[in-house]
Amino acid sequence: AKADGKGIHRFYEREMHANADDRRLLEMDLRTVLNDGGLHLVYQPVVNAGDEKIVGFEALIRWNHPTRGYVRPDVFIPIAEEIGMIPQIGEWVIRTACTAAAQWPEHIRVAVNVSPIQFLSPALPGVVMGALATAQLPANRLELEITEGVFMNDDAATDAMFARLKAIGVRFALDDFGTGYSSLGYLKKAPFDKIKIDQSFVRGAAIPGNRNAAIVRAIVALATSLDMDTTAEGAETLDELELIRSLGCSHIQGYVFGRPMPGDEVLEKVKGTATL
Ligand code: C2E
Ligand code: CA
Ligand code: CA
Ligand code: CA
Repeated sequence: AKADGKGIHRFYEREMHANADDRRLLEMDLRTVLNDGGLHLVYQPVVNAGDEKIVGFEALIRWNHPTRGYVRPDVFIPIAEEIGMIPQIGEWVIRTACTAAAQWPEHIRVAVNVSPIQFLSPALPGVVMGALATAQLPANRLELEITEGVFMNDDAATDAMFARLKAIGVRFALDDFGTGYSSLGYLKKAPFDKIKIDQSFVRGAAIPGNRNAAIVRAIVALATSLDMDTTAEGAETLDELELIRSLGCSHIQGYVFGRPMPGDEVLEKVKGTATL
């Protein structure tokens, strides 16, 4: 109830200070989070569009803060990037995800998100090899999800990192396709196995007249001609599912099939699905 301009100004000033303080506190807590044990991973199923069988899970990080409760990854990951904590947190994610996946049936992969900053850390190939070796997980069961953001960095360094990781044998998914850096040139050379269609294109695609369906169709055509799979992210309703399937996406990930779940629930779910 601030009618005059001054009041509004003071109000915003207070808000901004509160946020800056808040941010400093979060930073401090993030610096010790790996020792405090506040992080865990949850896993969301990715299914075949055709037979609806689970082909993998995406590992998603959760931070249960001692006083604030859950802090969203879109809030703390950017802070972790800025304060230089992403290599350590990212290593923990890769190790934890590989260890979990080693307990799953052999045909089920795990995908981890790799931030553009982590992708340029020269230590990454060693981290990946170490995690695979410790978990005894074959490299082709690990998929690294990378956003278009990595292509804003130095070309030579990015190419070299792809080559080093490719030599290890991991798979690559291009995450949040179409929402970031807009040049398509990198698709020519980067060794992606799949394109993940961002949920902003999937959501509402089933509503008649919505233009998202045309965009999804075009992305599927592009991916198919480049010999890449497509995962539609964020399908929530049966209508969306039906539409996405009719547009030819090879894989689907979204609440319609399952929310991110703790590791022990994954084990329950995949029990008995082993194919020999
Ligand atoms: P993302 O990689 O695009 O992950 C997909 C996000 O969509 C997840 O949010 C997931 O819970 C959510 N989602 C999946 N299906 C649906 C659906 O049907 N409806 C809706 N409304 N949402 C759905 P989450 O877990 O909050 O993660 C947000 C973002 O944080 C991720 O987006 C990713 O960019 C980042 N992130 C999460 N975990 C990690 C991590 O371990 N490392 C890094 N670097 N980033 C991470
Ligand atoms: Ca992702
Ligand atoms: Ca995504
Ligand atoms: Ca996203």
